[in-house]
Amino acid sequence: MTLDNIIEKIKQAEKIVILTHETPDGDAIGSTLAMKMALKQLGKQADVIIKEYPKTFDFLPGRNEIKSETNVDKYDLAISLDCADFKRLVGNEYFEKAKQTIVIDHHGSNKMYGDFNFVNPVAPACCQILIGMFEYFDIKIDKELGTCILTGIITDTGGFRYSGVTPETFEFTADLLARGVNVSDIYKRVLETKTKPNFELMKRITDRMEFLENGKVTFTYITNQDLKEVNAGVGDHEGLVEIGRDIEGVEVSIFIRQKEDNGNFYKVSMRSNEYVNVSDVCFRFGGGGHEKAAGALIQGEIKEVKQKILNEIKKVL
Ligand code: 5GP
Ligand code: MN
Repeated sequence: MTLDNIIEKIKQAEKIVILTHETPDGDAIGSTLAMKMALKQLGKQADVIIKEYPKTFDFLPGRNEIKSETNVDKYDLAISLDCADFKRLVGNEYFEKAKQTIVIDHHGSNKMYGDFNFVNPVAPACCQILIGMFEYFDIKIDKELGTCILTGIITDTGGFRYSGVTPETFEFTADLLARGVNVSDIYKRVLETKTKPNFELMKRITDRMEFLENGKVTFTYITNQDLKEVNAGVGDHEGLVEIGRDIEGVEVSIFIRQKEDNGNFYKVSMRSNEYVNVSDVCFRFGGGGHEKAAGALIQGEIKEVKQKILNEIKKVL
């Protein structure tokens, strides 16, 4: 599918809904808000639906216009951003009912569930795909739009650190900086500010961290009881999986978190450093993601879940 197809579908649509994945991160939120602003410049009003919003991102322009649901059940067009799998798409009932659907994403594991799919697995963030797209559509990337896009880029690249970063990432950032966007403020807010519950969870997961397979694998977890005891809110588990990966000699970090709505399931997060493709590992459990950052949902007690994952990881270590 080409960018011309996308702009054509947008121009034809009257009612547009913008959706993203569950437990939304900076890229998910940044890209939906950026898309809404871009559509406005094209003369189109759109609804962004996000049900659980982490307070870290309260500073983003347009945040107050986000809806948790709408009455309209017939959108002309639904746009899914940063979401590889229909199952993980929040508000997928709107997507299902929409007359036309577009998926824009940067996950190699994307299931291409839209009528039109624009997927670039080389882009370090979905927000970075939007830069090129908006330029092609002649949309002006002003301070507000730039702030949303940069938030997605900073969170998904771990602050410009990951290998997916391209010259364009820096060119875009330099350009925004020159135009007065406070890059260091965004950076500090989204990467360097810990909520108190996040810090408390960090203490627990570091205490419990196990080193396995000769120190190449770390494993740790949090339960619903932990979440309750530290008074955790939406997004307070973010970043915890990175801690294991940053330790010398570790190739794979595994972090599992009990699901609040169904305690028989654990949400698995994995990160790798060099050679293990954690997206492939997660794919075997019905999940996916990127080569070095992926996730899945697995049923069982902590011990069982841990064993299931380790059995697969041993094959690729
Ligand atoms: P995180 O560990 O931060 O939750 O997710 C890491 C990456 O894997 C993200 O890009 C996320 O979208 C993806 N991911 C996490 N869980 C799942 C899952 O259950 N299925 C798929 N397809 N992708 C996932
Ligand atoms: Mn992303």
